[in-house]
Amino acid sequence: MPIYEYFCDTCDQKFETLIRGKEIPICPTCGKEDVKRLMSACGFISKGSGGETVSTAAGSSGCGTCSSTNCASCGI
Ligand SMILES: [Zn+2]
Repeated sequence: MPIYEYFCDTCDQKFETLIRGKEIPICPTCGKEDVKRLMSACGFISKGSGGETVSTAAGSSGCGTCSSTNCASCGI
């Protein structure tokens, strides 16, 4: 399940949401569609850099904690 990070200019804050297909994300705070997608590093890190990062995050899928705010620490 792809969870993406977005940034709302109106609220000046990040949020994460699950997007399927061509769903348009809206800000959960203000409900606007005027949000920017951030490059979520999670997917790349968990697959790309050979395991060391994954081991810090509970082990299962690396980004299993992404649905919480925890992922803010790995979003670059
Ligand atoms: Zn907003």
